[in-house]
Amino acid sequence: PICITDPIEEHRICVCVRKRPLNKQELQKKECDVITVPSKCVLLVHEPKQKVDLTKYLDTQAFRFDFSFDESSSNEMVYRFTARPLVETIFEGGKATCFAYGQTGSGKTHTMGGDFSGRTQNASKGIYAFASQDVFLLLNQPRYRSQELEVYVTFFEIYNGKVFDLLNKKTKLRVLEDGKQQVQVVGLQERQVSCAEDVIRMIEMGTACRTSGQTFANASSSRSHACFQILLRRRGKLFGKFSLVDLAGNERGADTSSADRQTRMEGAEINKSLLALKECIRALGQNKSHTPFRESKLTQVLRDSFIGTNSRTCMIAMISPGMSSCEYTLNTLRYADRVK
Ligand code: ADP
Ligand code: MG
Repeated sequence: PICITDPIEEHRICVCVRKRPLNKQELQKKECDVITVPSKCVLLVHEPKQKVDLTKYLDTQAFRFDFSFDESSSNEMVYRFTARPLVETIFEGGKATCFAYGQTGSGKTHTMGGDFSGRTQNASKGIYAFASQDVFLLLNQPRYRSQELEVYVTFFEIYNGKVFDLLNKKTKLRVLEDGKQQVQVVGLQERQVSCAEDVIRMIEMGTACRTSGQTFANASSSRSHACFQILLRRRGKLFGKFSLVDLAGNERGADTSSADRQTRMEGAEINKSLLALKECIRALGQNKSHTPFRESKLTQVLRDSFIGTNSRTCMIAMISPGMSSCEYTLNTLRYADRVK
């Protein structure tokens, strides 16, 4: 018989890229689109060597990922190839994580489904909601119905190394680690949900809480990580967990030389957490026994998702197609390239 070696580790990490369309302002400024997606896995960046004649001095760099989505892809399509396979993981008693990574304005929140600014977007059309729908679909299948699983959700934000509960008026929460290296967010609200509509109500509530008190120009959501979790419990005990994380804008990590002390500190914290995240995902992919989860609050809180035999991760790196974002886009692609 043909023996196909199919180690699980290879499938434990999936790294994808999604390109958004040029937006109105970019079109008005006649910005050129520097990204081409020639195939499902390959993505090209046409970087100008000199800022003169763009058509003549292009330097093309190629990147290869598990999936590359061009500007015509829908949230549902992206979901199907990224987070959808992870829904099964939690029904097998595993831990799944899905990260939206990228520059501010590249489409992280749009993809996750926590964006209510546009008229066309609502909570029922992003990855949070698609995943919730499938959780209830699976839950009602005969093979899982008998398992007495209950579904809960949590929603919190990590800002400057501190955890705030988005389902409880942004209450600041403590993170404790016990002697057995179990990490606990003390007092985090877990809301039991019995259908996908319940979940959408929670997402709307949490999102409203996240964005309250923000001015448009100084939105703290670009400086915080938002973590939405779907928990499966059986007779009170945690069975499976799916964490969907809308990460802070990666360009904020470069704010470390800002004149403003607060901004500098926030930038350093973001930098630290994104680096720690990369290392933790790499450790998971390489099946390493040591996971450097203590390096940041983000990785500490997600600790149990980076260890264990049935943990899987997907990272969706979002990119803006415009010339003016080229430098950040390359940073994003290089980061995503090194995660796996
Ligand atoms: P981020 O969360 O990364 O800062 P957003 O998700 O808020 O970025 O996206 C910025 C803007 O671009 C929003 O108005 C959003 O609706 C729009 N946008 C992002 N991605 C897409 C897409 N794939 N298709 C259409 N509009 C998009
Ligand atoms: Mg956002």
